[in-house]
Amino acid sequence: MTHSPQTDGIVAARLDSATLAAHFDDLYPLLGDHEARVAADRCYFCHDAPCVTACPTAIDIPLFIRQIQTGLPDAAARTILGQNILGAMCARVCPTETLCEGACVREKAEGNPVEIGRLQRYATDGLLLANDHPFTRAAPSGKRVAVVGAGPAGLACAHRLAMLGHDVVLHDARPRAGGLNEYGIAAYKAANGIAQAEVDWLLRIGGIRVQTGSALGGDLTLAALQADHDAVFLGIGLAGVNALKLPGEDLPGVRDAVEFIAGLRQAPDLAALPIGRRVVVIGGGMTAVDAAVQSRLLGAETVHMVYRREREAMSASGYELDHAATEGVAILTNALPLAIRAEGGALAVDFAYTRAGAAGLEKTGETFTLPADQVFKAIGQRLAGAPGGLALDGGKIAVDAAGRTSLTGVWAGGDCAAGGEDLTVTAVAQGRDAAMDIHAVLSA
Ligand SMILES: Cc1cc2nc3c(=O)[nH]c(=O)nc-3n(C[C@H](O)[C@H](O)[C@H](O)COP(=O)(O)OP(=O)(O)OC[C@H]3O[C@@H](n4cnc5c(N)ncnc54)[C@H](O)[C@@H]3O)c2cc1C
Ligand code: SF4
Repeated sequence: MTHSPQTDGIVAARLDSATLAAHFDDLYPLLGDHEARVAADRCYFCHDAPCVTACPTAIDIPLFIRQIQTGLPDAAARTILGQNILGAMCARVCPTETLCEGACVREKAEGNPVEIGRLQRYATDGLLLANDHPFTRAAPSGKRVAVVGAGPAGLACAHRLAMLGHDVVLHDARPRAGGLNEYGIAAYKAANGIAQAEVDWLLRIGGIRVQTGSALGGDLTLAALQADHDAVFLGIGLAGVNALKLPGEDLPGVRDAVEFIAGLRQAPDLAALPIGRRVVVIGGGMTAVDAAVQSRLLGAETVHMVYRREREAMSASGYELDHAATEGVAILTNALPLAIRAEGGALAVDFAYTRAGAAGLEKTGETFTLPADQVFKAIGQRLAGAPGGLALDGGKIAVDAAGRTSLTGVWAGGDCAAGGEDLTVTAVAQGRDAAMDIHAVLSA
């Protein structure tokens, strides 16, 4: 039986399958040839282009846009992929409004940037969907490198090393490669199996042996990897989830947002996914936004996203927050969760209003309660399962500018490494740059 958004409790099939398919379809469909040429025509092809400086992978944006403008989309794809091998996913998930498009001179002049992200997708999708891999391997170097973590950092590192002639073994604890591209990014940003298609396409370089279900910390130890390989790269992300440390956190109906999102991304049938009538998401970052928006898209009647500080302090971008509001998510700020209680067969979440005080965040003395069927915790991820013996910095693996850790022969990059923003594109840049440094060391 199909339920409705008004059905009490946590139930599946609040919306019919056709509505769900429409809700989770591509957020921004692929540009057509004519649309891409028109969008490319808006570029001034700036000298010392600020959009390039703002791109963590330093793609030559004016060059690839010129290539599209002159009818050479495959050449444009090569320009992009030479710098960022996960250019197709990054075209979908990058917060372009704070990176390249935010820096575009047309944004500064008119508040309307060149659509760099959509142009990047236009170029890269062409090669990817044709399964045309434009790179080849150098002559075998005879060196073996272990890469742990098949997320954006590990994949970028593995691909660059394979291209340079090294043999790579890529370990991942999960059943599928891709990291958060496969298990985290919102489904409507990664529609039509693009994350897995990109991994398959990337592996066509050859020389990368993927071992899924292979977790560092179990039978696999860092010492054994070091003994068997010439270098090791760690791209293990942030596998731990921060706890609220509140009474009621373990009640039925309270879940980690990342676990909910991973289940959603792997669900063969969205109509089979249970979701609450009234959902409360606690947090102010990208994970909170994605849990809140996707709850609404699954048919939750009301979704409140609640953050303890003011809106400006949220790590989700203004663009993401506006998108959440458009989808009907109510965003409450300056509200600190106090407790989650079982009440009347459902849940109730107590909050205290807050304000910025001289000594930091302080309670105003006023409180309120939100009724909920389901509560998602989204207050951040943390490093978990990192091998002992590595120096840490701020709870992450300490690295230098080239990605070298405190252990000789061991590099790290992406979310698990200290410094840098926790973004897909930053992880790609760090994986790529660590591979170049590993290559320099192995070639010396
Ligand atoms: C819900 C959510 C939404 C996001 N949305 C966006 C977005 O829209 N745009 C954006 O730019 N960024 C987004 N991010 C951030 C982005 O996904 C990450 O910054 C990026 O994936 C980091 O890449 P990584 O390779 O460092 O780590 P991950 O993608 O986390 O990959 C790490 C890999 O290591 C594996 N692993 C972990 N521990 C072990 C172990 N002990 N042994 C073997 N393997 C292990 C994991 O299984 C995983 O495959 C989002 C993050 C989340 C959680
Ligand atoms: S800043 Fe904007 S206009 Fe200038 S090169 Fe980059 S995309 Fe083109």
